[in-house]
Amino acid sequence: TCITRFSTAAALEEPITPPVKVEYTKLLINGEFVDAASGKTFPTLDPRTGQLIADVAEGDLEDVNRAVAAARKAFDEGPWPRMTAYERSRILLRFADLVEKHADEITALEVWDNGKPYEQAARDEIPLFIRLFRYYAGWADKIHGLTIQADGPHHVQTLHEPIGVAGQIIPWNFPLLMFSWKVGPALACGNTVVLKTAEQTPLSALYVSKLFHEAGLPPGVLNIVSGYGPSAGAALACHMEVDKLSFTGSTETGKIVLGLAAKSNLKSATLELGGKSPFIVCEDANVDEAVELAHAALFYNQGQCCCAGSRTYVHERVYDEFLEKAKTRALQRVVGDPFKKGVEQGPQVDSEQFDKILKYIRSGVENGATLETGGERFGSNGYYVQPTVFSNVQDNMLIAKDEIFGPVQSILKFKEIDEVIQRSNASQFGLAAGVFTQNLDTANRLTRALKAGTVWINCFDVFDAAIPFGGYKMSGHGREKGVYSLNAYLQVKAVVTRLKNPAWL
Ligand code: NAD
Repeated sequence: TCITRFSTAAALEEPITPPVKVEYTKLLINGEFVDAASGKTFPTLDPRTGQLIADVAEGDLEDVNRAVAAARKAFDEGPWPRMTAYERSRILLRFADLVEKHADEITALEVWDNGKPYEQAARDEIPLFIRLFRYYAGWADKIHGLTIQADGPHHVQTLHEPIGVAGQIIPWNFPLLMFSWKVGPALACGNTVVLKTAEQTPLSALYVSKLFHEAGLPPGVLNIVSGYGPSAGAALACHMEVDKLSFTGSTETGKIVLGLAAKSNLKSATLELGGKSPFIVCEDANVDEAVELAHAALFYNQGQCCCAGSRTYVHERVYDEFLEKAKTRALQRVVGDPFKKGVEQGPQVDSEQFDKILKYIRSGVENGATLETGGERFGSNGYYVQPTVFSNVQDNMLIAKDEIFGPVQSILKFKEIDEVIQRSNASQFGLAAGVFTQNLDTANRLTRALKAGTVWINCFDVFDAAIPFGGYKMSGHGREKGVYSLNAYLQVKAVVTRLKNPAWL
């Protein structure tokens, strides 16, 4: 009964009190929750209202130094890289069990801090988080090198060793998932970690890290520094004692951190950056399915997905039908308090993102795209944006080029497959693409021609612990998840031993 469609703001009037207490707000360094060295804190706000949830310790250079020192010591002298891989694996499994046990509180905390619908987080994110840790627990004792037949009387083998201290910087759109994509493989390989959460969403990582220590993680192996990017984040990226950097966020910030990594100790970097993914609906597609998936591909998580299908290319033969149905679907979207049942869309994460999205919507109108529905703030409180659909979008408009990161669907028309390939690839990004067709040859052709790290065919946003994810072009470097992520956290050492009396000589 409390559910509202986006035409009414009734559900927003009285936000539900989240069923969770905020217990952990300090930095986690060397297994202990501590205040920032400066004593400073920053507020984390409820996106439903803009009101304070909690003040959180604000880490900066000095705290990053303390955290890296703890991680360094834990790597150089501590038990983590020295224990058997099986023991490491068991700690990861125990952690996954504890997260499962506390899933309700963890979900509530994530929803409160981020604004995403509770039902979606409980259905998708928390199970995938748990799955990721179990998946990498499974890898921990299956990491091994090769024996190589080289020329000459030598025994040659490779050792796959942990790199050392991993510095990880994550964004606010999927705080827990990003934690799992980064911490899971790093720890499975025997590295130690200093992770900086996004300033908008510091809470869930602190909670789960507490559970990690309950699961038996030695102190110093996982350190969490909450704080801002240019201070804490930059300190981590350019730290001389950090051996590996992993960053997810905007392409702009990705360039900055890569520069810092290069200028300091040339640490290797994995970057997962922005996107402007094409979602291609061919003339032979099942239109109803494509409409529903295109809707989800864009609007999921309030449009705050790096892989959002944010350029919906529709073949001219099905364009009118598609547009009508896409508009109807957007109008039916249930927007409201993310804690309420049946809500599909909550608020954007903060006022900055909210303002940025409304600015992009204005630019779409000014540039001559047709605003089919939405386009305004939703309600009068918090950071809600109406589900918005533009038609007649041209490739050179800002809304077709930039990552809006909001609930704004841009629908573009195409005629030929070659044309849509060329237009899809004419972007600085190359993160993902969706292809909707019943024709195997068309699917194969598009799959091979599209410059994207993931191509989903007749599906979208299929995430699984085993499937690698990452970008071409300015969408990033390297891959996360699956077996590919292990490479990012391992060094390869070639060991060559001279054989005095090789049996075969
Ligand atoms: P951002 O890239 O600036 O922030 C991501 C992370 O980087 C945060 O933890 C932040 O504190 C940190 N950071 C920021 N500046 C830094 C610096 N100089 N050195 C080191 N770390 C730094 O993203 P944002 O400002 O939160 O959002 C801006 C836009 O980025 C969004 O509108 C969206 O388009 C995009 N974005 C993309 C993703 C993604 O998953 N690809 C995630 C979040 C945001």
